Amino acid sequence: MTFLFNSDARRGAVFANAFARELPDLAFAMDPAAVDPDAVRYLITWTVPDNLARYKNLEILFSIGAGVDQFRLDTVPADVKVVRMVEEGIVRMMQEYVAMAVLALHRNLPAYLAQQRAGEWRDIPQPQAGSRRIGVLGLGQLGQAVLDRLKPFGFPLAGWSRSPRRIEGVTCHDGERGLEEMLAASDILICLLPLTEETRGFLDAGLFAKLPEGAALIHTGRGPQLDHEALIAALDSGHLSAAMVDVTDPEPLPAGHPFWAHPKIILTPHIASVTQPATAARAVIDNIRRHRAGLDPIGLVDRSRGY
Ligand code: NAP
Repeated sequence: MTFLFNSDARRGAVFANAFARELPDLAFAMDPAAVDPDAVRYLITWTVPDNLARYKNLEILFSIGAGVDQFRLDTVPADVKVVRMVEEGIVRMMQEYVAMAVLALHRNLPAYLAQQRAGEWRDIPQPQAGSRRIGVLGLGQLGQAVLDRLKPFGFPLAGWSRSPRRIEGVTCHDGERGLEEMLAASDILICLLPLTEETRGFLDAGLFAKLPEGAALIHTGRGPQLDHEALIAALDSGHLSAAMVDVTDPEPLPAGHPFWAHPKIILTPHIASVTQPATAARAVIDNIRRHRAGLDPIGLVDRSRGY
């Protein structure tokens, strides 16, 4: 039985060590050309290889990243389990990034950076945290983790998901009506939705119009969820005050794209959260153990929902 690792060699070396220690009965391979395809039971990769069909005995296809939107799920046989990466390194990094972004927007960092460049020494009226309402789109692994990390600051917290949720200290919304309610009460909106057919283009002019005047956006979901032109228009009209954008479509952005130099946008190159090899190897090993014990792996993708 073989575990095939199809990602970068640096992470592969960490995985190889962990697998040798924890699952010595499983052969660990990083060169697809050197494996017996019939022996491959588990494959971890960022994209689905074109020749996936050669692994006739594949049981689990693991994503090396938190999402599976880069997988063409229709090319994966129905009996193969698809599992996204759920590991503590990704969660911790997303908590850090969103906490940084919320505080930067709450404390007017984009405006102060612009003032510094203009040589201007001027204070901006500062609302207190208790009156800065935060809304999170997506109450999954990451949405819940960032809300938890934001609790000590005292912001009123809300979140929205497909199915109803109950989270202590968070006003939870679901469905169309719930979305409208949350948007109308979000001074800082954070997108942590997975990319699916339903969420493609979700952050558009109609959605921005439902936010309160002066609201700000933090986008850490996936690039194709954001309508770039609509964001620029909402910022330029003054309806939105600022945005912190980590994901775009395409990535990287081309030279000359308006996001690069927009005074109200802080842009980061899809670094909010990155799979950490040691904790990821631990998570994958635990999932193989669960699978062997007849349990569903953590992060099992529901193909009908696409996430
Ligand atoms: P998750 O655990 O699968 O949670 C997804 C959440 O979104 C769930 O609460 C789900 O609702 C909700 N949702 C999905 N589709 C919806 C819809 N159409 N309407 C309403 N709610 C919907 O995912 P996660 O681990 O939190 O990760 C979320 C996303 O973050 C990933 O898919 C990825 O795109 C992004 N991400 C970005 C970075 C980065 O560096 N920028 C890093 C990691 C991940 P239910 O609870 O009802 O299912």
